[in-house]
Amino acid sequence: MRIEYDRDTCIGMFQCVAEWDAFERDEDAGKAVLVDGEETEEDLFVREVPEGAELDAKFAARACPVDAIRVYDDDGEQIV
Ligand code: SF4
Repeated sequence: MRIEYDRDTCIGMFQCVAEWDAFERDEDAGKAVLVDGEETEEDLFVREVPEGAELDAKFAARACPVDAIRVYDDDGEQIV
């Protein structure tokens, strides 16, 4: 499972931070940080979701009010 975080879209409401500890607060920027995320395009961060964290990752994506977080399964299908 893979998670994608669009930092440009993020409005810093920090609901994701409450759902999964791979998201942290950057209070200065007013944006979330995806820990260990690799920036594949400008402001687009991607990382694998470790085993056991799948549910938290999905909750984080669902909690985001502006859909800045997407979750994909191993076949590349978008789940959330
Ligand atoms: S829930 Fe969405 S808008 Fe809020 S900090 Fe997380 S990514 Fe940004």
